[in-house]
Amino acid sequence: MKTVLKIIGSILLLITITISIWISTNLKDQNPDYKADLKIINKDQSELHAGFAAVKITPEVPDSWVDANNDARYDPKDGETFSDGNGNGKFDPVWIAGFGNGRAANGIHDDLWARTMVIDDGKTRLAIVALDVIGFMSNEVIDVRNLIPASAGVTYTIISSTHTHEGPDLLGLWGKPPFKSGVNRAYLEFVKTQAVKSVEAAVTSMRPVRLAISGDLTGAAHLVKDTREPEVFDPGIRIIRAIDKENGTTLGSLIAWADHPETLWGKNLMISSDFPHYVREGIEKGVFNGDSMVKSGIGGTAIYINGAVGGLMTTHPSLSVKDPFSGREFNEPTFEKAEAQGKQLALLVLNAMEKPVENIEMAGISLIVRTLILPIDNKTFRLAISLGILDRGTAGWMKMRTELSVFNIGPLSFVTLPGEVYPEIINGGVEAPEGRDFDEPPVEIPSIRDMMSGKYKYIFGLANDEIGYIIPRSQWDVKEPFTYGRKDSPYGEENSLGAGTAPALHRNLKEMLSELN
Ligand SMILES: [Zn+2]
Repeated sequence: MKTVLKIIGSILLLITITISIWISTNLKDQNPDYKADLKIINKDQSELHAGFAAVKITPEVPDSWVDANNDARYDPKDGETFSDGNGNGKFDPVWIAGFGNGRAANGIHDDLWARTMVIDDGKTRLAIVALDVIGFMSNEVIDVRNLIPASAGVTYTIISSTHTHEGPDLLGLWGKPPFKSGVNRAYLEFVKTQAVKSVEAAVTSMRPVRLAISGDLTGAAHLVKDTREPEVFDPGIRIIRAIDKENGTTLGSLIAWADHPETLWGKNLMISSDFPHYVREGIEKGVFNGDSMVKSGIGGTAIYINGAVGGLMTTHPSLSVKDPFSGREFNEPTFEKAEAQGKQLALLVLNAMEKPVENIEMAGISLIVRTLILPIDNKTFRLAISLGILDRGTAGWMKMRTELSVFNIGPLSFVTLPGEVYPEIINGGVEAPEGRDFDEPPVEIPSIRDMMSGKYKYIFGLANDEIGYIIPRSQWDVKEPFTYGRKDSPYGEENSLGAGTAPALHRNLKEMLSELN
């Protein structure tokens, strides 16, 4: 009997040790000495050069997963044998991120991209990369930076995710539970090498440039719904068009707007970048009514960058979107709806571009970057990191490394945030409603835009990381009584690092912006 107990004891000890080692490996700091910190101030008027590139990051997806009866399927039961259409029999799908778990891609609707704009004032070279993915974590961003050859001469690389909810899981949360990451490692590495290629190609294509600035701050408001009170939007479209100074051709354009690319919603099984696909196509190639072009495009490479999408900006199925030509209305999430939305946005952008408010040929780039270590208060995040589902390691006990940057290009001001920020923090309007969890007045004031010095202000969300929602502390609401007369706690806090995140980011941005100005 004693021997049996001893054996059981040894086995339990062994299991405990193995689990402990596994967890401590998952928690290990993946970049212990990393700091992205930079401070470059250039108020001179320097000639600007810019380059653009678009490199595909489309995953390989079989036309359909089919079962023995040749029926397309995406959610096989355990033990069922599936064919990938090429008869290989192994069910190893690309999991689509953003809605429910276990959504296996059944095909490709449109290509996903790593699209890059490089801008250079002769002293500082910035690479701005937009990836058609749900999110790209800090440790992966650091990998890409390390892979970019020194010969590319890039001072600082910003990687922002468009946050498409119709593309592969790159965070790990959308695999087949329990305890299994949805990230396909080989695909993740492919995205990194393609991002590097995109930066290199953009550098190679650099030309002396004139930046034509335009925007439409109200025209797109009807295309986005705020699903959480207070109703504060950031509906403005902000545009930079880069024109070759010598021959007048458009090298590319950067379009900053704020909305979840999830118009196709949670049942779609085709890989897509959602409405940004149609926005970019329309800007580059023109907007068509059927076969006839209604508005010609400007050529070059269009880049879509998402902004303050928290709290929660979405083209919800309850929001109808009209085809700009036929007037047909779409409610149900379909590609037609995403296309109608993309066409409307492309038309707004192309019309705005015809009336540039400023042309910039000479400017200096000033840049401040801060690496931050933030506490992980969210217990689910702690567990997901411990189990390696969120494979990003930690930076100290239950802390994570992330990043903020602020930069000016002449009269243009930019702020990058590492997640999904609530628009009230950006534009103002943070409230301290009755029923809030912390009996404090609004913390995140003045608004970020108020503190930005430029004439034209651009917000890049999900940049250099995806840490989840960035929620005003005075609107934090997980405990009864709930705010705004709600019966339950609102959606958001379960996907936020914690109630201290927004104050910490705001405090740092305030310091950084005052240093920059
Ligand atoms: Zn989101």
